[in-house]
Amino acid sequence: MSTRVVQPPSKAAALISARGLTKTYGRTEALRGASLDLHEGEILAVTGTSGSGKSTLLHCLAGIVRPDDGTVTYRGEQLGLLSEDRLSELRRDDFGVVFQFGQLIPELSALDNVALPLLLAGSRRKAAQERAGEWLERFGVRGQAAFRPGEMSGGQSQRVALARALVTQPRVVFADEPTGALDALAGEQVMTALVHIARESATAVLLITHDAQTAAYADREVLLHDGTVPAGSAGATGQEAVRHEN
Ligand code: ADP
Ligand code: MG
Repeated sequence: MSTRVVQPPSKAAALISARGLTKTYGRTEALRGASLDLHEGEILAVTGTSGSGKSTLLHCLAGIVRPDDGTVTYRGEQLGLLSEDRLSELRRDDFGVVFQFGQLIPELSALDNVALPLLLAGSRRKAAQERAGEWLERFGVRGQAAFRPGEMSGGQSQRVALARALVTQPRVVFADEPTGALDALAGEQVMTALVHIARESATAVLLITHDAQTAAYADREVLLHDGTVPAGSAGATGQEAVRHEN
């Protein structure tokens, strides 16, 4: 695997475009004019030190937090202009989210955790459970189907969380430090499964990490520094990007 600097394909339409995002919490400027593009089917790593605004950026892109200023456009729709209903629909149907600690529902089995988004989207119980079982299988955790989160290892829980994020076949998965709480081996298993399945289904992934080894799984890497993407680091069309060859 090598890393080189190339021009990104400037003509490819972005799946998600963020422009000039700002977000202030009290006196803290979490984002100070951050811009980036995520393309269809692309695995993009966003790296940066702790406190550089990575999670805030992810929350803005995923329609969880409204930025103070700037725009997020997803397939031609500007998130800031959408109704709460439409935004909820996008979060349910088009976006999948994974956090550092899987945030599975502790009372539910692995199978029921994965079936839940399907039930919320209107599937029948039996169909949802069958489908959930298939996705557990794809992530190598079918054997844990009946286990509750507390009965699984961190790596197993995280693979269940990925299955839950992908089971509805979203166009984009937002993963915030998905390996941050795992040891190296479990982290590798999680990333290998995520990248394999994202490629297979042409799902775009916004992967937040402060770990170079995890970032190396991405096609491209954007560095966030003090709430902005410095020129030359990446992202917005026409700028240089660090591209990985896996
Ligand atoms: P990162 O994910 O890169 O560590 P964050 O986006 O979580 O960075 O945070 C950026 C800055 O904004 C930090 O200084 C953090 O303390 C602050 N921040 C983030 N979210 C909140 C919040 N909900 N309330 C107050 N401050 C916040
Ligand atoms: Mg964070």
